[in-house]
Amino acid sequence: MKKVTITGVREARIVDVPTPHAVGDWVLVKVHAIPMCTEYKAFAAGQPTAHLGHEAAGEVVEVAQPGPVQVGDRVVAMPFYPCGRCALCRSGDFIYCQHAYDYESYAGTPEGQGTYNEYLLKPAWILGPIPDGVSYEHGSLAVCGLGPTFGAMDRMGVNAFDTLLITGMGPVGLGGAVNAAYRGTRLISVESIPYRAQKARELGAEAVIDPNDPQALQQVMDLTHGVGVDAAIDCSGTVAAERFCIDATRRRGQVAFVGECYASLPIQISPDMIRKGLTIHGSWHYNMNLFPKVMQVIERSPLVGELISHTFPLSAAQQALELTASNQTAKVILKPWM
Ligand SMILES: [Zn+2]
Ligand SMILES: [Zn+2]
Repeated sequence: MKKVTITGVREARIVDVPTPHAVGDWVLVKVHAIPMCTEYKAFAAGQPTAHLGHEAAGEVVEVAQPGPVQVGDRVVAMPFYPCGRCALCRSGDFIYCQHAYDYESYAGTPEGQGTYNEYLLKPAWILGPIPDGVSYEHGSLAVCGLGPTFGAMDRMGVNAFDTLLITGMGPVGLGGAVNAAYRGTRLISVESIPYRAQKARELGAEAVIDPNDPQALQQVMDLTHGVGVDAAIDCSGTVAAERFCIDATRRRGQVAFVGECYASLPIQISPDMIRKGLTIHGSWHYNMNLFPKVMQVIERSPLVGELISHTFPLSAAQQALELTASNQTAKVILKPWM
């Protein structure tokens, strides 16, 4: 099968590798849609990477033993290789599994563990069904397109009575706009890149605030009668935006951090948390038991197609990675069989 690798600075190559086979409760999926995520970071940094990607939708083409899926099923592949047996996996929070499989020793091959491939292997139990009438491209948005912000909104109970702030309107933040619109939630967003600010407006953001504007925080206050938003989600992974979320959220409000960040965030416990009564969540993906609800957004939201800005054949991965590294996109999808 063909797969994409990163071989140098801004250098992606298509290579031929052996196609893996179904083994145990892992099934072979023919990949039809690959949403691009953070892979452009390794591409821009020139970090050699043999297995790219963690998001995909496709068709089950080989099973080794009876299980929850059959050949011909159309599915979304969730990230990772969680054990399926621990308490976290069984409760649906597989993303936090501490006993993930060693891929190569179970599969008998290193191939098929990324998603920038024509085929991949996955434990059958973390494949979510795609309903009839939903395309692979739309179905694939059930991973990082809509997932991280759906998980955060679920944890914070965000609904139609709330004003929500989202900082960072990249593909994840824009997915948050789709989720907010579906819930009837009023959305204020923060974004400096004009392409993404415009996209946020198209997806229903009432206001898009430029974080470089010295009056940015005041603008949020002006839009919320001086109180602040009910809930905030940072999708940028920058300390300035995380701090902005804390400052822009009302007393007894909630903040969720979704954007990956390895820097230290200055928080003062008394003014920011104890006396303000804030609840701060770290939210990575979403509980697997919410999958039918995420799929409901995909089936019913009139905005969901707008989240995909570009589609490329897998053979044009170089060009697609260049584009995602430019930040001039919403979600970009690779198609191996286009
Ligand atoms: Zn587990
Ligand atoms: Zn992702």
